[in-house]
Amino acid sequence: MCRLMVFSGTCTKCGGAQTWDDLTQELSCLEAKNAGAFGECDGGISVEEHSFDQECDTCADEDEGFGDDVEGGSSRGGDKKRQRTS
Ligand SMILES: [Zn+2]
Ligand SMILES: [Zn+2]
Repeated sequence: MCRLMVFSGTCTKCGGAQTWDDLTQELSCLEAKNAGAFGECDGGISVEEHSFDQECDTCADEDEGFGDDVEGGSSRGGDKKRQRTS
């Protein structure tokens, strides 16, 4: 039987309910591996839900955004502009 591990919880910052798609894990059993696809077995897929709390993407992006804007943001933008005009 294959196992699908789903992590869901609330954002530690804004408190919104979140499902952490990045953390979702598909654990194929041998039968499914031989069949070449996740869930392709007699047992089917067993979904395991785990609680997991962390900052949601929106809040995490806001945190990183301030630091990145000064260095990475401006230099990356400059490169793009240069390539386009030449
Ligand atoms: Zn399976
Ligand atoms: Zn949040």
